Amino acid sequence: MSDVSQQALRRRTFAIISHPDAGKTTLTEKLLLFGGAIQMAGSVKGRKAARHATSDWMKLEQERGISVTSSVMQFPYDGRIVNLLDTPGHADFGEDTYRVLTAVDSALMVIDVAKGVEERTIKLMEVCRLRDTPIMTFINKLDREGKEPIELLDEVESVLGIQCAPVTWPIGMGKRLKGVVHLLTGEVHLYEQGRNFTRQDSTIFPSIDDPAFEARIGPKVLADLRDELELVQGASHPFELEKYLSGEQTPVFFGSAVNNFGVQLLLDFFVKHAPAPQPRATTTRDVDPTEDKLTGFVFKIQANMDPQHRDRVAFMRICSGKFTAGMKAFHVRTGKELKLANALTFMASDREIAETAYSGDVLGIHNHGTVSIGDSFSEGEPLIFTGIPNFAPELFRRARLRDPLKLKQLQKGLAQLSEEGATQFFRPLMSNDLILGAVGVLQFEVVAYRLKAEYGVDAIFEPVNVSTTRWIRCGNEKKLEEFRDKNASHLALDAADQLVYLAPTRVNLQLAQERAPDVEFLATREQA
Ligand code: GDP
Repeated sequence: MSDVSQQALRRRTFAIISHPDAGKTTLTEKLLLFGGAIQMAGSVKGRKAARHATSDWMKLEQERGISVTSSVMQFPYDGRIVNLLDTPGHADFGEDTYRVLTAVDSALMVIDVAKGVEERTIKLMEVCRLRDTPIMTFINKLDREGKEPIELLDEVESVLGIQCAPVTWPIGMGKRLKGVVHLLTGEVHLYEQGRNFTRQDSTIFPSIDDPAFEARIGPKVLADLRDELELVQGASHPFELEKYLSGEQTPVFFGSAVNNFGVQLLLDFFVKHAPAPQPRATTTRDVDPTEDKLTGFVFKIQANMDPQHRDRVAFMRICSGKFTAGMKAFHVRTGKELKLANALTFMASDREIAETAYSGDVLGIHNHGTVSIGDSFSEGEPLIFTGIPNFAPELFRRARLRDPLKLKQLQKGLAQLSEEGATQFFRPLMSNDLILGAVGVLQFEVVAYRLKAEYGVDAIFEPVNVSTTRWIRCGNEKKLEEFRDKNASHLALDAADQLVYLAPTRVNLQLAQERAPDVEFLATREQA
């Protein structure tokens, strides 16, 4: 097997999806601990603590801070290389989250045992559905009282519409939590506070029939456990790898992230069964991760990671081949070679300059605005990866300057910030307005704040008569010209110079569509 194939097959690239407070940060930290990236784990915690202590505004920035430095975390485990891609926490950043989920091969869903399936989890699950992303489930906070495990499985099945296959099963919960049974190996792991850090540090019995186990928990608890396991095995689905890989079934684990409990069982199972990098669709063909030539796509841009240096990093998911430091890659959209100098990898405790990287890994590419979200890279083949959309924003504001002399900086700032993908920026054909579109209202505040902090521009955002947008596409040049002439007052260019229709009302949009049957009005812009 080639080096490239071998390395690709070792990779496990995933994201954690959960409702806020279910324990994503804590679990991330523990996974990193098990992966040996202890310093990194400490810093996740430190940042989070700092975030809680500060004002709302700073909280936002801190949150950004977290997603900046820990947006990709890589660690070796059990002969595999695990890449954990962070998803932004705030609900307003749904689009960003969506795009991160296009860059992973599987997901881990964290559920709070007391709260069950919550709203944001439902939304994230819908996104995973679109690509049949395989999902493992961790039911967290078993050290507290919560819903009955059987009831929770029912809830996941009925609300999320996915079959549950419990892999571990809790013995009690809250104060009565004694441990978990591994339903596939039969092993019992005892719950002991302040321990469970490694297998050596845990008390493990080979099965519930081990007399030492009975001696430890007593005949009454054991008899109840036997009854419960019989019930569970009758009422739930056995684990089936194929069903998990096709997104029909989710293996379920129980534990307590804050107590390290049940986490290693999850990680062991994850590296064994979670999918390695999968083939990816392009407009012309599917790209296999074991192909020798480097390909990848950009799913996220982060500008001004360090405001002093105005740096800007594009995050590229590698889809095939091998990256080596300093190599050149073909930037398909511009048709130019781009030297991938100083590309970053995200190994262990810090960002590092990449030496090599393979399918499933993420590279951070420094650039000055030439690279956009959705861009494809190759070694020459004009491949365009599909499925990394921009959504039509739902809220609009006109940017107004307090100091009109700063127009240039404002334009630059808005353009650069919109490249990060959270907001979109439109320039109407017929006026000098600068219109900003966002999916959530918080984003306008973020932009105003960052314009001031990073570009020295004092801007306010005022209401504007736009209620929705559509990207315009038309194969017929003449018809497009005609459409453009007739609708000029409603048309604008986005940051990538694509034509967009700005509709003041839904009715106006509907009429415009009816009057121009040859023109396509698209609610998402796939970057092609
Ligand atoms: P996130 O918002 O999903 O990232 O959640 P966090 O990891 O920040 O956790 C939210 C809160 O739940 C924090 O106060 C954690 O300490 C707490 N927490 C996390 N895991 C557990 C657990 O296993 N048991 C208990 N009792 N609390 C937990």
